[in-house]
Amino acid sequence: MTEKRIYNFSAGPSMLPLPVLEQAASELLNYGGSGMSVMEMSHRSKYFDDIITSAEQLFHEVMNIPEDYKVLFLQGGASTQFAMVPMNLLSSPEAKADYIVSGMFAKKAYEEASRLAANINVAASTKEEGFNRVPMQDELKLSADADYVHMCMNNTIFGTKFPYIPETGNVPLVADLSSCILSEPVDVSKFGIIYAGAQKNIAPAGVTIVIIRKDLIKDPLPGTPTMMTYKTHADNDSMYNTPPCYPIYICKLVLEWIKGLGGVEAIAEINRKKAAMLYDYLDSSKLFIPFAAKGSRSMMNVTFRTADPELDAKFVKETAAAGFSNLKGHRSVGGMRASIYNAMPVEGVEALVEFMAKFEKENA
Ligand SMILES: *Cc1c(COP(=O)(O)O)cnc(C)c1O
Repeated sequence: MTEKRIYNFSAGPSMLPLPVLEQAASELLNYGGSGMSVMEMSHRSKYFDDIITSAEQLFHEVMNIPEDYKVLFLQGGASTQFAMVPMNLLSSPEAKADYIVSGMFAKKAYEEASRLAANINVAASTKEEGFNRVPMQDELKLSADADYVHMCMNNTIFGTKFPYIPETGNVPLVADLSSCILSEPVDVSKFGIIYAGAQKNIAPAGVTIVIIRKDLIKDPLPGTPTMMTYKTHADNDSMYNTPPCYPIYICKLVLEWIKGLGGVEAIAEINRKKAAMLYDYLDSSKLFIPFAAKGSRSMMNVTFRTADPELDAKFVKETAAAGFSNLKGHRSVGGMRASIYNAMPVEGVEALVEFMAKFEKENA
């Protein structure tokens, strides 16, 4: 069965590590002698309690998360965090927040906050440049009295990433890490909140990870629903209601896989190698044009195109026939995108670069 698996370059949901899928398959019908699947068991059972407790501990260990942070396992995707962040961090509907608009998801987060409060500012935007780079520190117009600053670390659609962590003084920095979490070490202590939908680099869709500094767990704006309140979930260790049990279980397996490989530093080494292979080829190619500006390039989502949209379409078609899937770029950018998250093996990127070189020769 496994020999039929293909190199899947999907931006999300995306590839999961093969050893994780194999372990999940072996435990699918009877988890740990329970006589049932993790999908079927009570979230209040001892079995599941062990799973969620281990997942939380593994997050602390693998990401080196300080003790004054809480890891939450929520539902609703990263998009729900676009609303939960302002609902929980703004001190009033008149309070200020600064948004760094570096791509589509950052813009959506800004728009969602703007629905809830009057003083949501754009601290910087690279929209005029088609989001082919991220704003640098000296371009940020930050307000000293903002309740928080929001950023999106890796812009999945455009293939750009911040090469630095913005300095925001005493104002908490909130970051969407959906498409780069666990890809390389990150200094969690520089952030007030880190959140990420799981379906890019952690687990199947259905669980959203929120890493929140404990002093930011407080009363939300008046009228905030119980389920949209961080305090609800923090006070109940993510078990206020039924959590997304199966994705949390896969999350635990993925964290164990990363730990087994030598941790995030070891994964980062492999990721740097994979990304360098693609970018080096793109920089030397006379056919393909990288989209992201140097200095803003993502290690997870590599965007490129040719000068001719018809040739782009031909490339996507031929890659699909050759056993590579999901290389078509996002509709708003066009061209191609190769998402090379943790689970994409080095051999997958090697095979893609080889295919691209062959395509270039044939279409010169
Ligand atoms: C995919 C993605 C989202 C949207 O995530 P959902 O879980 O679908 O809501 C938000 N931000 C970033 C950076 C993403 O890559």
